[in-house]
Amino acid sequence: MSGTKLTPVIKVDDEKCVNCYACVAACPVKYCMDGTGDAPKINHDLCIGCGNCITSCKRGARSFFDNGDAFFRDLGRGEKIVAIVAPAAASNFEGRYLNLNGYLKSLGVQAVFDVSFGAELTVLSYVNYMKEKKPSLVISQPCPAIVTYIELFVPSLLPMLAPADSPMLHTIRMIKEYYPQYRNHKVAVISPCIAKRREFDETGLGDYNVTFITIKGQLEKEKKDLASCKAMEYDNPEAERAVTFPMPGGLLRTADREVPGIWEQTRKIEGPEAIYPYLDHLADSLKKGGHQSVSFVDCLNCEKGCNGGPGTGFWEEPQNELEYPIQQRAVEAEKKYTLKSQKKSRKELAKVLNKYWKPGLYGRNYVDLSGNYTIREPSPAELTEVYKKIGKYSEDDIYDCNACGYGSCKRMAKAIFNKLNVPKNCLHYNLFLLNKQDKLAELNVEMKKQIGKSLSVIDSINSLVDVVSSKMAKQSESVDHSSAAVGEMVSSIHKTSEVSQKKRDDLQGLVDVAARGQGSMRETIQAVEDIAKSVDGVSSTIKLISGIASNTNLLSMNAAIEAAHAGDAGRGFSVVAGEIRRLSEDTRANSQNISVTLSNIIKGIKVTSTRSGETENHIAQMSSEIHSFAETMAELISTFGELSSGSTEITSALENLKALSSEVKISYNEMLNMTLTLRQALEELSAVAERSTAD
Ligand code: SF4
Ligand code: SF4
Ligand code: SF4
Repeated sequence: MSGTKLTPVIKVDDEKCVNCYACVAACPVKYCMDGTGDAPKINHDLCIGCGNCITSCKRGARSFFDNGDAFFRDLGRGEKIVAIVAPAAASNFEGRYLNLNGYLKSLGVQAVFDVSFGAELTVLSYVNYMKEKKPSLVISQPCPAIVTYIELFVPSLLPMLAPADSPMLHTIRMIKEYYPQYRNHKVAVISPCIAKRREFDETGLGDYNVTFITIKGQLEKEKKDLASCKAMEYDNPEAERAVTFPMPGGLLRTADREVPGIWEQTRKIEGPEAIYPYLDHLADSLKKGGHQSVSFVDCLNCEKGCNGGPGTGFWEEPQNELEYPIQQRAVEAEKKYTLKSQKKSRKELAKVLNKYWKPGLYGRNYVDLSGNYTIREPSPAELTEVYKKIGKYSEDDIYDCNACGYGSCKRMAKAIFNKLNVPKNCLHYNLFLLNKQDKLAELNVEMKKQIGKSLSVIDSINSLVDVVSSKMAKQSESVDHSSAAVGEMVSSIHKTSEVSQKKRDDLQGLVDVAARGQGSMRETIQAVEDIAKSVDGVSSTIKLISGIASNTNLLSMNAAIEAAHAGDAGRGFSVVAGEIRRLSEDTRANSQNISVTLSNIIKGIKVTSTRSGETENHIAQMSSEIHSFAETMAELISTFGELSSGSTEITSALENLKALSSEVKISYNEMLNMTLTLRQALEELSAVAERSTAD
């Protein structure tokens, strides 16, 4: 069902409101108020118009809307208006309620009717309904706040609400039906109730709701004493005991006249703290099929009845004093209908009442307004979350102290859940915060100590950072130097490597040359050996020649001897033999010389051969040395290569070191800035801690 707009009944003066939540505490609905701001705001579509917030507000921040201004204005304009006056006038204008009629008429009101008579008709409607329909349970409905409560929040009770108009509506319908001269007049309801306006809206009957407070205000404004106004009887017949309707139990008292003993079946209940929970429980009980000990509920919102309604200003008056004039009037009213016998009296009253009552005239329908109630019930998990927001973590934190006005922590949590209130309005949450604040103060002191320590640590860090920075600068310088040295070293290594490479190539040439030298040497040795062999051959030949020369010498000597024997014939021969002997001797001598020479040559050749062998060995040794030197050179070159690549790595490591040094420098600057910022933050924190401790 969609929401229905309800006429605003209550207004809040934000200037006067101190957000004390007394109104929320008094309000039977609670969720008709938004307590999130500086003054509770009313959701009129959930407000039942009970006025309890007005009577509970000690700051005068709550008041009501009525139609007093329009009433006096329209009267001044000559509008045709009749007034109906609630029976509570007898207590609110004690001893002068009939003068009120004179006053109203003096203003131009054409006729004044007594709602007490409408109350008599109301009881008649109830009794006839109960006799005819025999309902198991009837809830009385003169109080519009209770009717609206049922329509909004417990619509399951709507069928139990007496299907009859309230005394006010009975009176208006009576006028329209039985006083045709006033049928088209506007009707002003002079009442103690601010919620009557809602009945106008729902039934289309009634035009001005003018509270007693407004009438009193107008009299004051006019500086008029009611005593100065003419006392005038009402324009309708007199009521009997229904004049007690504005007292709690007045309805029952009247009904008991019609149905003696009805009180035995009745729950009489009034006051917001009693009636609304009662209705809630009744609805639950009926839903569960529970047994009901009563068949009639006589209920009123206001604890002192309509005599102390929110439109009276008399809600703090002692009840007995309020009721005394009513009782007096009841005595008088009953007297008027007391004839010789009770039977005759009853008959006379019935005759009067029946003249103004007929079936179907005073029936009332109700409206289900439950669509206006969109407040959601939090699930247990949601409730737990809300509880946490108000510092409630266990059952021990549930105080139900009512300081927030909701009567229980659960209802406050429901309001917070529905964004109708805020945690700061929970007293114990504030105590919880205060407690926290105390702890916070202790922590503040501790924090200040720690801040002091932190500041000195920052100073130490700063000086360490300075030391690191200067070391970093030196390191950076060293790295630069090292980089340059390594650069030079790398280039020398490269050069040396290149030279070594070249030398190794040269060495290879040397190895080749040595190998070739060794080969030549070997050939030389071979040649010397060949020469030696040849010399040996020559030597043998020389020996042979020397032998031949010796033999020749021997032969020549023999020839000379023979020649000598031959005389002159032999003389020539002897000369030749002599010549041959000399030749052989010369040959032998030459052979010996040659042999000696050859022997020397052989010796020389042997020495040469030995030397050549040695030379070959030396060359071989030299070659092997050169070889091993070449290998060493190769190793050296490869070492140079490794050295070179190692140097490159060193160079790149140094480059990295340089880059890192720069980064460290940047980080150092950042660190300095950060420590500066940290120092400022800590100093500010210290100042805040100082201030909060001072606060
Ligand atoms: S009139 Fe009643 S229901 Fe409306 S806000 Fe006031 S106390 Fe609540
Ligand atoms: S009772 Fe309500 S309206 Fe009055 S001062 Fe307190 S919070 Fe404001
Ligand atoms: S403890 Fe807080 S939420 Fe609970 S009733 Fe008290 S004020 Fe309301």
